[in-house]
Amino acid sequence: MERVECIVVGGGLAGLSAAYGLAEAGVEVMVLERGDYSGAKNVTGGRLYLKPIRDIYPELWDEAPFERPVARELVTMMAEGAHTTVEIASDRFTAGAPQSYTVLRARLDQWLAEKVMEKGAMVVPNMKVDELLREDGRVIGIRAGEDEIGADVVVVAEGVLRLLSSAAGLATQPKARHHALGYKEVIELPPGVIEDRWHLNPGEGAAQLFMGECTKGMMGGAFLYTNRESISLGIVVGMEDMRRRRDGTESWQLLDEFKELPQIRPLVAGGTVAEYSAHAIPEGGISQVPRLAGDGYLVAGDAAGFCLNALVTVRGMDFAVAAGHLAAEAIKRAKAAGDFSAAGLASYEGSLRSSFVLRDLETARTIPSFMENPRLFTHYPRAVARLLESVYTVDERPQDGLVKKAWKSVRRDFLNVATVKDAWSARRI
Ligand SMILES: Cc1cc2nc3c(=O)[nH]c(=O)nc-3n(C[C@H](O)[C@H](O)[C@H](O)COP(=O)(O)OP(=O)(O)OC[C@H]3O[C@@H](n4cnc5c(N)ncnc54)[C@H](O)[C@@H]3O)c2cc1C
Repeated sequence: MERVECIVVGGGLAGLSAAYGLAEAGVEVMVLERGDYSGAKNVTGGRLYLKPIRDIYPELWDEAPFERPVARELVTMMAEGAHTTVEIASDRFTAGAPQSYTVLRARLDQWLAEKVMEKGAMVVPNMKVDELLREDGRVIGIRAGEDEIGADVVVVAEGVLRLLSSAAGLATQPKARHHALGYKEVIELPPGVIEDRWHLNPGEGAAQLFMGECTKGMMGGAFLYTNRESISLGIVVGMEDMRRRRDGTESWQLLDEFKELPQIRPLVAGGTVAEYSAHAIPEGGISQVPRLAGDGYLVAGDAAGFCLNALVTVRGMDFAVAAGHLAAEAIKRAKAAGDFSAAGLASYEGSLRSSFVLRDLETARTIPSFMENPRLFTHYPRAVARLLESVYTVDERPQDGLVKKAWKSVRRDFLNVATVKDAWSARRI
């Protein structure tokens, strides 16, 4: 059997980050990626929070092919026939070193794969791993078709579906309840049009999230990120809500219907669809994180459930890069000690626990169950729209004072037992 020191399964951000750190330290590493190239099969909404990972491989980020630094944040609550948008623009989002950038994975992952190869690692595209090889409970390598390759350690960075790790008994089978499904189009538009539509200075970017009517009351929402010469527009819906739906709605229809809404049509007008993708997203939170290290293996990125939808912030890419880096550090320590057993690799979980990855997931422990509340996607977007609509409405009757108008709406939609219960369950998010 051919042998290398380390095999990385999956050439996404988690796998490439691990490989970069290992190759840099002179560890012999081979990344196996089933796609035609890194980035070919990878889907994201579109925004990487760079701030948490800027100090990891700092030499990389100044030349990374990011799209736009996000200067404006918009959240739109959609009700039938009315929507409310909250917009936040802060100099501090972009001053000095911007906190986040929009990205296109086909570009970003391909570029990172090149950097990994420059460091001396092998990145092998079109290579689908079919099995993690085990001997006496220890992972000893992989099988891809007829080829078997042995390794001291395997980094499992296969992404959300966990097909290999669950088949090898390293993780449980993913459940629909803990996942969402995302559909996305990249729509080309001239830079000037993008800047006009989202009120941006040249080169700046916007991130817009939508919740409510766009998912027909199901858990999820829509997103829009502005790239240099395109926008990424997509919709995400909870798999379990979708599975239970009995009206024949197909998940992919949601994006088509979203694009046709009167509020969205002007945003995409004149654009050309350049790319279409669909992908699952782990949304189970920390309760769904599997064992992270065992004899001969480590798990990183979406394969480890490192993804966090916290309603207004969506993170997974920064977790993937950080986890890959920490996996590389743990492997370097294991190599120095000549011990690739679970004990030799155990420092990985410890470092994740003291890093933002597991700390932020721990802080957000209750978010997945909080998000199962359908009122978040039905009642509240409607209630906010009704409240503001009443305040802004002038008709033929003598008008109530502003506070009285608002109070009527507040009493009707917010001062009730259900809202108090929701507020109580929100106290720990
Ligand atoms: C619609 C959507 C919106 C999102 N929005 C955001 C966002 O705005 N910001 C954010 O930070 N995160 C977001 N995320 C989450 C983020 O994209 C993921 O957390 C991140 O991509 C995880 O990286 P990864 O390397 O672990 O997995 P992936 O990028 O999925 O990489 C896994 C790789 O493994 C390869 N692979 C799988 N099986 C095999 C095999 N058997 N053999 C060989 N190769 C294999 C795949 O081809 C793939 O390249 C979003 C995700 C989705 C789907």
